Amino acid sequence: MPHVPGLLKGLGVTFKTLTKPAVTVQYPHEKETPAPRSRGVIALKEENCTVCMLCARSCPDWCIYIEGYKTKAPPRRAGGKPRTIQLLDRFDIDYALCMYCGICVEVCPFDALFWSPEFEYSEPHIADLLHDKDKLGEWMETVPEPPPLEAGAQKGR
Ligand code: SF4
Ligand code: SF4
Repeated sequence: MPHVPGLLKGLGVTFKTLTKPAVTVQYPHEKETPAPRSRGVIALKEENCTVCMLCARSCPDWCIYIEGYKTKAPPRRAGGKPRTIQLLDRFDIDYALCMYCGICVEVCPFDALFWSPEFEYSEPHIADLLHDKDKLGEWMETVPEPPPLEAGAQKGR
């Protein structure tokens, strides 16, 4: 047997709350602008990547998949020897596994990974959350400009 006064009191709270406007953002009808440096998606600047594998080895979720190959590049100076460089065959991030810890972005020694605040990339099929290097490269367009250098700081030192 329910406790009637308690039940009525509870229903009173329910009806009072029903008539109040919602306090949460009614996504997707309403959208908030995320903070510019928020962690939405990781973007890849492919030309900066040296295939050093540090990001993949540091990822706690093992959700970065990299394959590369060696090739010859012209010497840096006239008369120098051709260099051996590594280029990317494959660079995928599986956002179905990623926990957005940011370790990969932090450890990359060559400024090849950046956070973008873009977050609207949900997919009906989980396999489509695997972003390949082309898709990760497209996210670069959504990466905000870095904040200006502090007074007294110099570039390239
Ligand atoms: S943010 Fe963290 S979990 Fe996601 S890919 Fe980078 S290191 Fe891995
Ligand atoms: S740490 Fe940076 S340079 Fe090294 S493989 Fe990852 S993205 Fe490329």
